[in-house]
Amino acid sequence: MPDTRLIRTFLEPHHTPLAERAGGFATGEIATRPEPADDASARREARALLGLLGGGGWLQPILDLDLRGCCLMREALGEASPLADAVFALQGLGTTPILLGGTQAQKDRWLGPIAEGKVMTAFAMTEAEAGSDVAAIATTARHEGSGYVVTGAKTLISNAGIADLYVVFASTDRAKGAKGISCFLVPANTFGLKFTRAQVLSAPHPLGEIALDNCRVPADALLGAEGRGYGLGLAALDRLRPTVAAAACGMAARALTEALAHVKQRRQFGTPLAQFQLVQQKLARMATDLTAARLLTYRAAYEKDQGQERITSEAAMAKSFATEMAQRAVDDAVQLIGGRGVLADHPVDRLYRAVRALRIYEGTTEIQQLIIAGELLK
Ligand SMILES: Cc1cc2nc3c(=O)[nH]c(=O)nc-3n(C[C@H](O)[C@H](O)[C@H](O)COP(=O)(O)OP(=O)(O)OC[C@H]3O[C@@H](n4cnc5c(N)ncnc54)[C@H](O)[C@@H]3O)c2cc1C
Repeated sequence: MPDTRLIRTFLEPHHTPLAERAGGFATGEIATRPEPADDASARREARALLGLLGGGGWLQPILDLDLRGCCLMREALGEASPLADAVFALQGLGTTPILLGGTQAQKDRWLGPIAEGKVMTAFAMTEAEAGSDVAAIATTARHEGSGYVVTGAKTLISNAGIADLYVVFASTDRAKGAKGISCFLVPANTFGLKFTRAQVLSAPHPLGEIALDNCRVPADALLGAEGRGYGLGLAALDRLRPTVAAAACGMAARALTEALAHVKQRRQFGTPLAQFQLVQQKLARMATDLTAARLLTYRAAYEKDQGQERITSEAAMAKSFATEMAQRAVDDAVQLIGGRGVLADHPVDRLYRAVRALRIYEGTTEIQQLIIAGELLK
């Protein structure tokens, strides 16, 4: 359960009860669910988890643009189940562009079923030749009649194959580079949109590729103005980066809990591991780094919720520091637990597999560092 004492200066009165309820829900109803055995069951489980999140009203912080609420949710879910966290995160990533750039008609059509967990979203930006360099997007959307024809392929897309609605980034004017990128709402059943293959991660996480083969969409599928898709996508990523940091904090907190429980009871050389100073050093470093990461995370979310236009630097610091920290913390937990920690069904081994992707998706650590340095050097 997210500890709200440390971050209380960054919270509003409704956040503490939310953290408590979210912690109870995550431990009682999410952590107890069995780990999916393969990709097909992970995909079914992701839909089931979305139903649970929507049915319980847990997606509301996304709809309310309550960034600290989203961070508390992701911290609680990250601690209990990285898959449930990913389901929450992706619903946020697919919904935020609608919230930031959608017309009233687009909001009326989609937000209700999204909040209830009946419509699952996906954010389709990355392509084979456009990863960190988003402006290199080669998918195109050309005018035809009153609508558009979208053609291209997307890779490494979370929820590919199980989403109902894809937020697709495509170029309406390639000569303009980033300023020619637009954003479209493309329902999964649109003729020409195909789920081409699953990309299987070592941790349960529905991921895959889609192709858009002369996919016709009406004019009102355009989200925001033509050529504003890049800005809309980056604004959504900028806003949601602190939540990736929060998920990392949740995973690190779980790793620390598992490590502490183990070193207190495991005896070697006639004494509990917890008595050895080398063990204590690891615990102290894990707890200190986690504390620093949580402060960076909630500082960034607080600034956004207070109305700061951009939190570019704050979000990049939180995301890069927290995800790197979580990787170290999970690795330390595995080390402290020893051989049992690398068994596939041990919680720290599951965390070990899940935490790695956080340093890559929604902007790698290196890209975050470039962003921070760019702000410093302005
Ligand atoms: C689990 C998972 C889920 C994902 N979900 C989605 C999704 O839902 N939607 C979506 O659109 N995308 C998604 N992605 C894709 C993700 O956003 C990209 O993987 C990420 O942006 C990096 O792009 P890339 O993999 O092509 O790596 P590259 O951009 O090729 O980078 C490779 C390496 O080069 C480094 N690098 C690149 N440029 C520079 C530079 N200028 N200076 C220094 N180093 C640099 C990077 O930091 C990285 O270490 C997901 C990825 C993963 C792993």
